[in-house]
Amino acid sequence: MKLTFDNQFTRSLPADPESGSRRRQVANAIYSRVNPTPVTAPELVAHSAEALELVGLGDVDANSEAFTSVFSGSKLLADMDPHATCYGGHQFGNWAGQLGDGRAINLGEIETAQGLLMLQLKGAGATPYSRTADGLAVLRSSLREFLCSEAMFHLGIPTTRALSLIRSGEDVMRDMLYDGNAQLEPGAIVCRVSPSFVRFGHFQMLAARQETPLLARFTAFVIDTQFPEVANATRNQSDKERVIAFFRAVCQRTATLMVHWMRVGFVHGVMNTDNLSIIGETIDYGPYGWLDDFDPNWTPNTTDASQRRYRYGQQPGIAQWNLMQLGNALVSLVEESGPLEDCLSEFATLYSEQWLAMMASKLGLARADEALVSDLLTNLASAETDMSIFFRTLADAPPHLAVEGAVKAALYNESDWRAVEEQWQQWAQRYALASTESGLPGDQRKASMNANNPKYVLRNYLAQLAIDDAERGDYGKTSELLDVMRRPYDDQPQYEAEYAGKRPDWARSRVGCSQLSCSS
Ligand code: AMP
Ligand code: MG
Repeated sequence: MKLTFDNQFTRSLPADPESGSRRRQVANAIYSRVNPTPVTAPELVAHSAEALELVGLGDVDANSEAFTSVFSGSKLLADMDPHATCYGGHQFGNWAGQLGDGRAINLGEIETAQGLLMLQLKGAGATPYSRTADGLAVLRSSLREFLCSEAMFHLGIPTTRALSLIRSGEDVMRDMLYDGNAQLEPGAIVCRVSPSFVRFGHFQMLAARQETPLLARFTAFVIDTQFPEVANATRNQSDKERVIAFFRAVCQRTATLMVHWMRVGFVHGVMNTDNLSIIGETIDYGPYGWLDDFDPNWTPNTTDASQRRYRYGQQPGIAQWNLMQLGNALVSLVEESGPLEDCLSEFATLYSEQWLAMMASKLGLARADEALVSDLLTNLASAETDMSIFFRTLADAPPHLAVEGAVKAALYNESDWRAVEEQWQQWAQRYALASTESGLPGDQRKASMNANNPKYVLRNYLAQLAIDDAERGDYGKTSELLDVMRRPYDDQPQYEAEYAGKRPDWARSRVGCSQLSCSS
């Protein structure tokens, strides 16, 4: 296995003097050295050929023992520097203190054509940050993370990548719905890849401990390595101005990410501040989900069922709340809150502008007015209407004829048409008018809309079908789904019946399809 490591993270930042997984509070350090726990019988479930290519392992056999031993954490390569990082976070709105990489172990950074990329194993055993848990992950949640990371990437949405999914050969005890029914489940390990796994919570932890010099040093490191545009633009400015520019850039990246999630109907499910990436990637796929019928109040996370804090429609607002917590953490470096507050206001404006432009692109319009879009969303929510199918079908006919067909194709109950017909007919007239005024030319319309409206998204029930098979040792569905999700904007007629349809009725209430908890 030929990987060239250049561990700038561990080389540049202070380590916890203690190594190993003894649980502890870790002050004045960014990370603790800890090795993955070897497993007895690693077996490849799936790999991403593109991610392998990305890390320079395009010609390696992922089924080989050489591969599975390394990417299950059973064998370390020379120059790896395994470590878990220290972060805190607000969980469901409350400050939770030190959390950290409880079941993620960074192996080190490798040199690639895209710069240094960190390899990280998730589920490879205990770390100082595992608290009362085991540091392990089960097959069902690992498979969901693996598939969704790659699906997101192919949708063109910033995300951590997934290189491989390996069964550990060991069982893990989990109480899937937190209802007192713990069971043994197959364990698994995902290898994730990203330029940086730093979260908002890393900054928050340093600020909470009032380790201001280390916070300044860490922030400078993140700017230099992950925000070269900020580093360059502020070369002759003060540290304080650099931190403000950095915060502004994080706000911008986060706004862009939220617009993407809203575009494709993705619900993260656990937008705690420790699950927001500082570089604006989607990170930590847990009880996430995709809207089938358009319902802004939907969340897949049963752990959040009463509050619905992380429901689809609230994600941009929560992102801003999380950014405010990040701003609070950075304020000691800036010494005044005004400029950071300005960035938060800019986030709101930028998000709204980008969101409206995105919605216009979904409709095949050069621009859209807010009333047209908000009335569309009201209509979509007024009867069970499949979001992906509606937008995709809208491109199949010219604007003045398209709406009725799209709604009918997307309704879960055909008989609902009568109840919503009038409001849709009214909206259709306005849409036709808007299309005359600012619609894309006929020859561009469909291609442009299709490039913004995926035909294939990783609906929860599809992932669950792959999990059912994988738990029986059949990985065919997993690799087929991965293949479908490689070209989410293409028609792929051979896959249409199986993968582009509405959620079937049986999936409406099945665990794993509509109900997911944080247990993973
Ligand atoms: P999450 O909600 O998955 O983002 O996790 C929140 C915190 O719990 C993070 O610090 C995780 O590392 C930790 N955690 C989650 N599951 C486990 C586990 N099985 N073992 C150890 N730590 C865990
Ligand atoms: Mg997490």
